[in-house]
Amino acid sequence: MIRLLLIVLAGALSIGAVSAVPTPPPAYRAVETGADVARGDSASAGDSASAIKERLAGDFALVSVAGLPPVPGRLMQSAGSVVFEPIEEGDPVVLPLFQMARDSRRASAVRLLQVVESDPDSRFLFHLGNAVIETAAPGILRDLALEPSRVQDLDSAWTASDRTLAPGVDTAAAIAIIRELETSAYADSIFSVLGYPAHPIGLVDERGIRAGRLGEYLTRRDSIALSPSYITSRAQLRHALAHELAHRWLRENPESAASLSASLQPIRDSLRYGYADREEQLAEALAFAVHFLQSTASNETADPELLASYERLVPGTGEAVRMLITFPAYALHPLGGGIPMSRVSD
Ligand SMILES: [Zn+2]
Repeated sequence: MIRLLLIVLAGALSIGAVSAVPTPPPAYRAVETGADVARGDSASAGDSASAIKERLAGDFALVSVAGLPPVPGRLMQSAGSVVFEPIEEGDPVVLPLFQMARDSRRASAVRLLQVVESDPDSRFLFHLGNAVIETAAPGILRDLALEPSRVQDLDSAWTASDRTLAPGVDTAAAIAIIRELETSAYADSIFSVLGYPAHPIGLVDERGIRAGRLGEYLTRRDSIALSPSYITSRAQLRHALAHELAHRWLRENPESAASLSASLQPIRDSLRYGYADREEQLAEALAFAVHFLQSTASNETADPELLASYERLVPGTGEAVRMLITFPAYALHPLGGGIPMSRVSD
């Protein structure tokens, strides 16, 4: 299953000004991944003009919103918020830089997670609300990580309401969204990789909804259920399908599942879906792997270095990619044979 990602932000942190970038929490540490990941044997892809290290310069960032796989886009500060505009598809996401603490003072919503040393620039990973942001140009995020009290000087934060794909009570609308998904080219491609359930996709029932589930794999029926009344974007709907199908695939392929599980490094981010839950982490790693392979399916976007960013969020994604890319569905993938074999999680 996949649940709503509940983000519990740390309380007000007022550590005052410090002279260097603050130390990341123990769950994270600086790692050198650039060399391992960039120098796979796929020189052509690594040399691509869209190499992620170039794209992460300026106001570019890779952002994972609400636990979803990371997507590239631009970050802009707007008063007390940061707005993320995805390059490819999807609506802008507004991320307030602070929240109101109990004493009506502002508490910074920015937390430095990790500094990744890579050539030529360091990259910074931040939590901002329910997003994880990776960027080489941290700007206001770095300022607030250094000096959280600066949130008092910002203009008001604004936010966008999270509208769901279907109104809560409208079952017909929810079914229509599911049927549209089920007959889409996206679903075709995911089914061709991870297999076809015996029954059409259904709706998560009342009990599942009460438990906060966005999707379920129902083993006995061999069917998937989704909940468009609680899902807020097409990207989340697609990811929920990939995640539930991954559960099915893991069940149908116990040997491969055991092999993926054997090399699995735990998720370090306690706010990330799959934390401290091996089965969920495995399903999430497979769903992230499918997203990576789709995102890098054209020559322009086939950047193997991007995999390190996925792996940092959900360890196990790299191994899952190396397995999936041998499947017939990816026979023509531009990274075929070009995924570096070294582990990138630590
Ligand atoms: Zn799950």
